[in-house]
Amino acid sequence: MLSLKQSASDLIGLLFPNLCNACGTPLVQSEHLVCTKCLYDLPFTDDHLHRENRAAKQLWGRLSLNAAMAMLYFRKGAKIQNLIHNLKYNNKTEIGILLGELLGDKLKLSPLYESIDLIIPVPLHKKKLSQRGYNQSAYIAQGVSKKMAIPFSEQYLIRCVNTSSQTRKNRYNRYENMQHVFKVNHAQDILNKHILIIDDVITTGATLEACAHELLLSGASHISIAALAYAE
Ligand SMILES: [Zn+2]
Repeated sequence: MLSLKQSASDLIGLLFPNLCNACGTPLVQSEHLVCTKCLYDLPFTDDHLHRENRAAKQLWGRLSLNAAMAMLYFRKGAKIQNLIHNLKYNNKTEIGILLGELLGDKLKLSPLYESIDLIIPVPLHKKKLSQRGYNQSAYIAQGVSKKMAIPFSEQYLIRCVNTSSQTRKNRYNRYENMQHVFKVNHAQDILNKHILIIDDVITTGATLEACAHELLLSGASHISIAALAYAE
């Protein structure tokens, strides 16, 4: 359930669109979506530069990955929560592109991500897509794609099962729950390709694991993973 404070900030955002999506202060003319101070203060992990980071450790031994990272630390009650909330639930798709561009700028600097052929966002099930109206991860992928000058596509990976909330299940059940959730279309186009999977927030890693598993089974040569943020 949303807090009263969050609902109030959502309402203010609707009434005054030119406010910073992270802190709510009015934006000056040169600023777009997020004020300069909030952008400067974002809690960057710098995990694009380290092969052995939290994301890699989380997915360790579960499948063969080239590299994994999340760009930011997520903290409840912090500005990053407002940004992600606005991206996921308030139709602020431009935030996805903006943060995706920041992510793309980071990945460009990392030798771990230099051989990517294709960028694929974690897909939503069509039922969830019609409820929300958009896939936030596709907007992040669009920003990453622009900065890295590498194509992105939503046509290859399909979510064919609408999974229930995973938060109460243990690790084994979570994995079981994700079996056969995704399928690959046009597998010949991903054959021997190094694919970068894009997600918004890494929670258990079970979703990313299932996506990567399916792409590898369908002939992708390497999988790398990049997300906007780690869950708290
Ligand atoms: Zn701000």
